[in-house]
Amino acid sequence: MRKKILILLGAVLFLTAAVLGGIKLYRIHLRDQSGILLAFDDYNEPTWREAMDLFDEYGIKVTFFMNLTEPIDFCYEIKERGHEIAYHGAYHLSFPDLTEEEVYANAIAPLELFREKGIEITTFAYPYGSHTDELDELLLQHYNILRGAYHKEINPKYKMRHGFVEAMPIDNHYYPTQEDFEAAIDEVLNELSQTKGVVACLYTHVISDGADWGIDWAKLEYLIKKADEMGLQFYTFKELQEN
Ligand SMILES: [Zn+2]
Repeated sequence: MRKKILILLGAVLFLTAAVLGGIKLYRIHLRDQSGILLAFDDYNEPTWREAMDLFDEYGIKVTFFMNLTEPIDFCYEIKERGHEIAYHGAYHLSFPDLTEEEVYANAIAPLELFREKGIEITTFAYPYGSHTDELDELLLQHYNILRGAYHKEINPKYKMRHGFVEAMPIDNHYYPTQEDFEAAIDEVLNELSQTKGVVACLYTHVISDGADWGIDWAKLEYLIKKADEMGLQFYTFKELQEN
């Protein structure tokens, strides 16, 4: 009888150790996982809505940096589907040209209105990517992350909790052909997959074939498929701020 109890006890201990070890390995796996912050700027509700099923098919979450004066129905739909609503200013203005009052009215005051209506915004992208150290200092009192728009930047995930980060534009304007695009994307994805726990922000605008400031459907699908094949994760900005 005593022998049986000892065997049972041993089995329970073994299983507990295995489960705890598994949890630890899973945590390390999550921490080391690299990935992409895919973002869509300005406001292009119809084409963004069309892409929702594609995002769901691959289980990916993206961030929409919107120019809005107040929340609209689409914000709640996005939120419901697990994507992030981020801000791009009430209007699409060059922030270094604004007075302090105008900056307040365009990027700080609206946060309260969104919050009151159930939408917590913690990420901001400068229109045209133009910013100054003074603007960063002011806006970081209200946002966790401020995003630029000029070039690729690969950052450890933990750096995505607070501060200014750059983003790489992937619009058709920069990569006119599918081949150009695939070559550029392959390069970024390879770099990401070779390093542990890093991310890069990629952004575009409308999802429409041939749009200068936007992305062709085939290009978007290539990016999502390829990242998925390479085991890269898609993150929202908020997700990394909270981890
Ligand atoms: Zn913009």
